[in-house]
Amino acid sequence: MIIFGLSTKEKRKPAGQFDCPACNRRASYAKLVHARRFTLFFIPILPLGSNDTGRAICQNCGSEFSRGMIQTTT
Ligand SMILES: [Zn+2]
Repeated sequence: MIIFGLSTKEKRKPAGQFDCPACNRRASYAKLVHARRFTLFFIPILPLGSNDTGRAICQNCGSEFSRGMIQTTT
């Protein structure tokens, strides 16, 4: 019997720096994306791309923001 399926995992992609309103300092943030993968016997075989969640997380304090709120300084 072959067991296959799809798994979705939330991943953090480092994206840059912003001024975090929660910890009040310049911090790096990561984009939250949903990475989808094809799995065989629960082992990820094939990446199927990722969906942007539109959310970001401060890597210093862990607060979550909608990305529209983030003012990046690049
Ligand atoms: Zn923060």
